[in-house]
Amino acid sequence: MYAAEGVGLAANQVGESLRVFVYDCPDDEEVRHVGHVVNPRLVEADGVVLRGPEGCLSLPGLEAGTERYDHAVVEGYTVTGEPVSVHGTGWFARCLQHECDHLDGGVYVDRLTGWRRRRVMRQAARASWSR
Ligand SMILES: [Zn+2]
Repeated sequence: MYAAEGVGLAANQVGESLRVFVYDCPDDEEVRHVGHVVNPRLVEADGVVLRGPEGCLSLPGLEAGTERYDHAVVEGYTVTGEPVSVHGTGWFARCLQHECDHLDGGVYVDRLTGWRRRRVMRQAARASWSR
């Protein structure tokens, strides 16, 4: 995650069949959040829907304006089994929603519609041709 300058990473992105993600991500107040959640559940996603640039370590080189709620709460456990509740705003709320999507088998591109989706799919096709 750090090598690629990411702010979050889900276990299934690195071939681990576990419901775990890690994060190191600032929120709207520039507060840095660092941690992990085991068996995370997105229990709240609300507030204003914002479209902001979103990329993914599993889709290198691509980015698209993606709609996300600006407030999110994830509940789960620490690696030692303690219950944990993680609250996020802004960029960190986006990160929490993004990582929960991964663990349900999704990527941000699945949330795109119309020309934004077509454009990122074209970019992905070009990227795979040039490899
Ligand atoms: Zn991702």
